Amino acid sequence: MPAQDPATQRGGRTLDPWYDNYARRTSGLTVSEVRALFAVASRPEVVSLAGGSPFVSALPEELVRGAFDRMMREHGADALQYGGGQGIPQLRERILELMALAGISGASADDVVTTTGSQHAIDLVTKLFINPGDVILLETPSYVGALGTFKSYEADVRHVDMDEEGLNLEALEEAIRRARAEGKAVKFLYTIPNYNNPTGVTMSAARRREVLDLCIREGVLIVEDDPYGLLYFDEPSPKAIRSLDEEHVLYLGSFSKILSPGVRVGFVLAPHGIREKLILAVESSILSPSTLNQWLVTEYLEGSDWQAQIDTFRHTYRERRDAMMAALEEHLPQLSWTVPKGGFFTWVQLPETLDSKQMLPLATKELVAYTPGTGFYADGRGHDKIRLSFSLPAPERIRLGVRRLANVINDELEMIETFGGFQKPAEDDNRFASAPPDLV
Ligand code: PMP
Repeated sequence: MPAQDPATQRGGRTLDPWYDNYARRTSGLTVSEVRALFAVASRPEVVSLAGGSPFVSALPEELVRGAFDRMMREHGADALQYGGGQGIPQLRERILELMALAGISGASADDVVTTTGSQHAIDLVTKLFINPGDVILLETPSYVGALGTFKSYEADVRHVDMDEEGLNLEALEEAIRRARAEGKAVKFLYTIPNYNNPTGVTMSAARRREVLDLCIREGVLIVEDDPYGLLYFDEPSPKAIRSLDEEHVLYLGSFSKILSPGVRVGFVLAPHGIREKLILAVESSILSPSTLNQWLVTEYLEGSDWQAQIDTFRHTYRERRDAMMAALEEHLPQLSWTVPKGGFFTWVQLPETLDSKQMLPLATKELVAYTPGTGFYADGRGHDKIRLSFSLPAPERIRLGVRRLANVINDELEMIETFGGFQKPAEDDNRFASAPPDLV
């Protein structure tokens, strides 16, 4: 608790007179590596392969403006008023069409709850199920934003190994067995089966079935987080796990990557009982999700060819994925990386002598940014991994970024070979002064 917190050792009490009053769970609230990166990576001269922002410029302005105009004309009074905690019925009906594209048929709009982005859904689900010390199982590695939420509820987060088909079944079974042998409650498995953030790996259809069967047998709820599923490059991803079972799976979706993260609209499809609790949890935290934004999304879905727009996104991201793969092959052929079939990310394995977090200031000095691997593990692993995102920069910027990255990596390797150690930025190099301290 506070005594072991590095902030205290740096004088947290003197900086913040309320320091001793915070709830214990706030010790899990640390700055995410991805957020911390924004300070550095958002400078225009830096090629950022770091954050996972969608390329919203691919969205024609008139499409959104049209939806805005229709919304205000036809639903203005409702859109400016409070709404219900479950979300507006018209949008929940439309969400059924979206989920049908993921293979989920026969669901009822009654079982959909809209949220303020899927991050909010992750928070609500964790709030509903987790007492301090309860176990959450997840992939190795996994989404930094979910890890942050889980930590903030004091969950005992345990990674399960993966292979190229997704979660390893034996490892999953063993993790459940071990946790229970320790007397722990395993509350849910959190999984990103499509184009996992950060690895880009997709769980195969057969593995989805096997993971589901195991979780049913063991009585473990599955939280299936699927913000990238429709952004496939060649062929659609396997059907959602939720399409195979409605009682053991909570399905989380989002409009952030297929429309805009600025609208902050996501949703959950939940088994009946959980749905009731979720609505209560929404009401107790925000009363209702934004009616204005929900009406905007409804009008967008009703009045535009949104599926054609998703095709445009898919083609844009495929071109960028190809640019990144080609650049990695050209400039860093000695390394290995994943080849994603959709989504935003590739996961790169560095030589293990490198430390991706320590190397970041040197990379930003060379005007390229990436996300160090450590943020995607709850247990300190990942120093020799990096996540590269190809969603935002244009192909020529991706090529430039990878070339710069290759220079940094090759310089570091040479340095280590020659001097047996790491290059540190010079003491008087204050170029990174605005970046949060855990990054530099
Ligand atoms: N889940 C995953 C796997 C993500 O990558 C993200 C965003 N990067 C989210 C959830 C949250 O998305 P949002 O809240 O914008 O819907």
